[in-house]
Amino acid sequence: MEKPLFPMEYLRITQGYNEGTHLDSYAIDIAGKDGGISEIRAPYTGIIKKIYQNDANEVWLESKDIVEYPDGTKDYMNIMFAHDNNVDDLFVGKEIKKGEIFYHEGTKGNATGNHCHIECGLGKFTNNGWHKNNNGYWSINNGKKPEECLWIDDSIKILDNNNYQFKKISTETVEKEKVIDIPVENKKIPEKIVEKEKIFIAPKTDLYGIYLKKSQKVIIKELS
Ligand SMILES: [Zn+2]
Repeated sequence: MEKPLFPMEYLRITQGYNEGTHLDSYAIDIAGKDGGISEIRAPYTGIIKKIYQNDANEVWLESKDIVEYPDGTKDYMNIMFAHDNNVDDLFVGKEIKKGEIFYHEGTKGNATGNHCHIECGLGKFTNNGWHKNNNGYWSINNGKKPEECLWIDDSIKILDNNNYQFKKISTETVEKEKVIDIPVENKKIPEKIVEKEKIFIAPKTDLYGIYLKKSQKVIIKELS
């Protein structure tokens, strides 16, 4: 079961949830290492469910299978990403593999400075994917706190977590998963060691490499 991974190499939250334009939502703004345009990687293997190009190029990615949330929840997840300047390479129904770069920071839709606005939702994509919340902002359906949805690992560098405690995938867990994932046909079964015996009977007393008296037997054991 996949563990959804925070989608950027650098974790820097520039606006938390339930503040400013994120009032009454669990949306966060993430901005990578600097003011440039950073890449966004798929947190899980998923299917694109909706693209909304009339505003901030919002894209909804729904997990292909049930995923493991850091808070212990096991369910589907859908996440809305916003502000990429160009999403022409994406289409509804496209499958994106976990870790694949499929989205970018940008400024599409009245964003001040390059960043990505993300909002995690519990379960599958439902209805239109979002609703207008009590403050007049469009918010994902069944919104859930990002630190309850996204894991981090050793590859992610934390610059500003806005005091949200993201749970770390331990290296030990990764190793265990790798072992389980080995397909059965690739596993090597050790071959049985078969012993064969040859009996050499000396025809006369002579030197045969080792000295043998007549009629002495030598048992040669071959390992095959
Ligand atoms: Zn935002």
